[in-house]
Amino acid sequence: MYRTVIIGGGWAGCSAAISAKKAGSEVVILEKTDMLLGLGNVGGIMRNNGRFTAAEENIALGASEVFELTDSLSRHVNIDFPGHKHASLYDVTKIEGHMRRLLKDMGIEVMLMSRAVDVEMSGRSIEKILLADGREVEGDVFMEGTGSTGPMGNCLEYGNGCSMCILRCPAFGPRVSISQRAGVPDIMGRRKDGGFGAFSGSCKLDKNSLSREVREDLERDGVKIVPLPLECINRGKLDMKVCQQYALDEFAENIVLLDTGHAKLMTPFFPLEQLRMVKGFENAKYVDPYAGGKGNSIRYLSVAERNNSMKVKNVDNLLCAGEKSGLFVGHTEAITTGSLAGHNCARHLKGLKPLELPVNLAAGDLISYANEKIKTEEGMKTRYTFAGAEFFERMIEKGLYTTSKSDIRKRVERMDLLGIYDQKII
Ligand SMILES: Cc1cc2nc3c(=O)[nH]c(=O)nc-3n(C[C@H](O)[C@H](O)[C@H](O)COP(=O)(O)OP(=O)(O)OC[C@H]3O[C@@H](n4cnc5c(N)ncnc54)[C@H](O)[C@@H]3O)c2cc1C
Repeated sequence: MYRTVIIGGGWAGCSAAISAKKAGSEVVILEKTDMLLGLGNVGGIMRNNGRFTAAEENIALGASEVFELTDSLSRHVNIDFPGHKHASLYDVTKIEGHMRRLLKDMGIEVMLMSRAVDVEMSGRSIEKILLADGREVEGDVFMEGTGSTGPMGNCLEYGNGCSMCILRCPAFGPRVSISQRAGVPDIMGRRKDGGFGAFSGSCKLDKNSLSREVREDLERDGVKIVPLPLECINRGKLDMKVCQQYALDEFAENIVLLDTGHAKLMTPFFPLEQLRMVKGFENAKYVDPYAGGKGNSIRYLSVAERNNSMKVKNVDNLLCAGEKSGLFVGHTEAITTGSLAGHNCARHLKGLKPLELPVNLAAGDLISYANEKIKTEEGMKTRYTFAGAEFFERMIEKGLYTTSKSDIRKRVERMDLLGIYDQKII
């Protein structure tokens, strides 16, 4: 049986595993921590703005399992907050266990606490992955979804130190760029001021540490907006965050909270003493990152050069997805690229031409647009997401944005791609 080895079990890796498995490959995921879903354990926002269109496109293409999971675990659906419409918020405290069971039920092998540190090559192909503890994992095709968060050195050099984020590098070891180990130099994203990387754009407060009124409003509405005292407003933070879709004045002038199980605070970090000056936040306490009063994780320093079928340049049997495959922000973006990459792993094993998604689908346009833009200086400073900023505007201009499920399905059908990820290839 042919084997697909997936390095990194975030949304990109899990989605790739599912589509590769459905196409008939044996699949194993190597994940460095003790949990799947990586940053998906601290996110939660789905279906906001163009992500709705992209989610429905993916479902029509056949990547329905992941969206069934996030939809079924949504604490709130169809909510609006500044600059964003019809969002749903999955429960970050529950999603990981459900994903683990889904993969197990599908017969996908998951190797936790298995940190990839190097590759063994034969010519332009990877033969095996070497793990930090000396084990070796052989495969026929490889998919890298190691994201772009860490290693800790990046957070020290380009951020405010290790913020003790969900990836827990001090305990589980640093992220390693597998494409770089295979000889392909990483591309590093930039900030508006030309510096490298970007701060993650939100942190989480323990809901129990907030006043009853704030908590009750948040749990009832899914969103709570509290104006900040003038002395606490810091507009400079808008430029340093990855999430350009949230770089709006409303996010600097107010505390914007979303109920994802925790109280998601839509700012990269916020000094605890200042936060506690606000009514209802007198006892506020961070649950992610633990040092959210001082900083956040640094991302986007490790993108692999790839083509639009997600194959990494100059390595014959390595594909990539998620943040590893472009300056993408978001779960939906990781699922979109991951599902395609996993499907193409199976095509590679069968010697078939890889699939490229057409640019008249939002999913295909995102993949090819981000790939073109990353070659330009300005494009290295931009982040790509269906949820806002430059790419969502493009979706609107190109007529790609719609919330009509039937129109989206028809669009995919017209391309003859309905259920393509459900087809067994091997
Ligand atoms: C605080 C925060 C909040 C966010 N909120 C949202 C949100 O609400 N909605 C949204 O759409 N997006 C959100 N995002 C962005 C989104 O989470 C990410 O863009 C997306 O989930 C990235 O997925 P990924 O699979 O590419 O990478 P990751 O989630 O980073 O996954 C990479 C995985 O690879 C593992 N790994 C790394 N190196 C190795 C190695 N050498 N060997 C084995 N495993 C390895 C990591 O442990 C990790 O599990 C948020 C991000 C952050 C940080």
